[in-house]
Amino acid sequence: MPEHILVIEDEAHIAQFLKRGLIYEGYRVDVAYDGQSGLDMARDNPPDLVILDWMLPGLDGLEVCKRMRAAGDVPILMLTAKEDVQDRVTGLDAGADDYLVKPFSFDELMARIRALFRRSAPSSHPEVLRFGDLSLDTGTHRAQREDRFIDLTAKEYELLELFMRNPRRVLTREMIFDRVWGYDFGGESNIIEVYVRYLRQKTEEDDAPRLIHTVRGVGYVLREE
Ligand code: CA
Repeated sequence: MPEHILVIEDEAHIAQFLKRGLIYEGYRVDVAYDGQSGLDMARDNPPDLVILDWMLPGLDGLEVCKRMRAAGDVPILMLTAKEDVQDRVTGLDAGADDYLVKPFSFDELMARIRALFRRSAPSSHPEVLRFGDLSLDTGTHRAQREDRFIDLTAKEYELLELFMRNPRRVLTREMIFDRVWGYDFGGESNIIEVYVRYLRQKTEEDDAPRLIHTVRGVGYVLREE
């Protein structure tokens, strides 16, 4: 069964361009032209990935993203004409897994989509990575600290997996960019800080000791306190 992509985009020519291209690439594609119908379609026929335009009539892309994220962990690629770094962060805060600024090439879109599918695909040989009282199941993509289960978004999972596979090793920002985002997100972007903050919030609940430490001017390291 080909993977199913839901495109939510009000500009008909862009929506049709995406639909044609994605079908040509072998995906099943549905198109919604506004946020509410996108949410309805996602609920009735859950997609494997969502391409979501930011500027939509009625419910905007940000709100749609938040609601979809509240309902599940489908990978969400946001499209936007906004180029400001703060807007990107706002979109990622809302739960988007990746971000593409218009205008973009179809090749670039496909690269992002393949990367998202790679990241969201369950590992063929699941294992449980452990560091201290934190564990990460590469099959379910769920983390656990002591008795508490921690649900992660696709990007959070990938970042935590990178740390768990490199315990006590300082990971530079460049390395993290390269391994988790796979392309240059923009040199001044604070995307890594944003995601480290998410992981800390999730893993440090109930005053659990910090595991992901900042190495000032360099990057981050997973180690004991
Ligand atoms: Ca639009």
